[in-house]
Amino acid sequence: MTVTDTFRRPLKDLRISVTDRCNYRCNYCMPFDEYVWIEKDAILTFEEIVRVASVVADLGVEKIRITGGEPLVRRDLEALVQSLAAIEKIRDLSLTTNASLLAGKARALRAAGLDRINVSLDTLRKDRFLKLTRRGDLDQVLAGVEAARVAGFVPIKLNTVVIRDVNDDEILDLVDYCREHGFEQRFIEYMDVGNANNWSMERTVPKQRILETIDARYPVEPVGRPDGRAPAERYRFKDGSGFVGIVGSVTEPFCGSCSRGRMTADGRLVTCLFSESGFDLRPLIRGGASNERLAETIARIWAGRTDRYSETRWEAIASGRPMPAGRKIEMITLGG
Ligand code: SAM
Ligand code: SF4
Ligand code: SF4
Repeated sequence: MTVTDTFRRPLKDLRISVTDRCNYRCNYCMPFDEYVWIEKDAILTFEEIVRVASVVADLGVEKIRITGGEPLVRRDLEALVQSLAAIEKIRDLSLTTNASLLAGKARALRAAGLDRINVSLDTLRKDRFLKLTRRGDLDQVLAGVEAARVAGFVPIKLNTVVIRDVNDDEILDLVDYCREHGFEQRFIEYMDVGNANNWSMERTVPKQRILETIDARYPVEPVGRPDGRAPAERYRFKDGSGFVGIVGSVTEPFCGSCSRGRMTADGRLVTCLFSESGFDLRPLIRGGASNERLAETIARIWAGRTDRYSETRWEAIASGRPMPAGRKIEMITLGG
């Protein structure tokens, strides 16, 4: 079964946040020490998450990404992975992590059936890493990435948010690191997600500039988007040493092919990364609703989806009009 929204976009991917807590405070995501965190008893249990995942799989979802906050701060995450991996229609189960706790977890996650790992890494400089994350130790992260490699995860993708005058001087260092270790680098344009990071367009390094920087040192050719729907446009190094991806969410929006839904750790279904609110599924999940009722509700929410925030934002920037207004959900609550 496939459900489609008002622009005929199917629901194919679900990003599940398993916690809004994080052991880092990345400046561009959640710079505050304290925040209004989700109440502990509102957080969905693993059983509840797996139930929703099975329901959306029957609605056509094929890919699930576990995210957060930092997903690895949730205890026994491998148990959730094992249950999600057992859902037959899910053909791709992945995790996005800051990798701070990955060294001790990689093997168990692999054994539990996790297919892929994306590690967020914005700098290879120890002092800069601490400044950016406000708490992190780069060596722990690099040990986590190495543990993932040893555990057999292929490919391992490294996600880097490029911010002008913060880490845009490291684009080639990160490319070198990935080429040497057999990882796939993905650069992400800095976005106006949430409200806490004080985003401004001047700090976003456009995809085209990132591409030119890479191409000048290592010539690349475009190979398109995996599945035609993935956020990253991929490029092949002409010397045969792998691929690099760039996510141009701001300057080259891809709302037209966006098939991603998101669920917060307390069970709110959110249809766009820039939404101001979600649809609370918890009363249904905890109120005795049948799976059919849950499926109908999710299908109805998706069918009414009209989101195209990044296109609207780009139209506003390009024409000098004001940016779309509104108080968005924070990235740490929503998951990337
Ligand atoms: N804590 C995990 C991590 O950092 O990988 C998972 C959650 S984090 C919110 C998911 C992704 O969102 C990370 O790759 C992070 O770099 C990205 N992200 C956070 N704020 C962003 C922003 N303002 N613009 C672009 N990407 C952002
Ligand atoms: Fe950084 Fe991820 Fe934590 Fe946000 S959720 S502060 S991106 S580690
Ligand atoms: Fe999808 Fe919303 Fe991002 Fe557009 S802005 S690609 S609809 S999540």
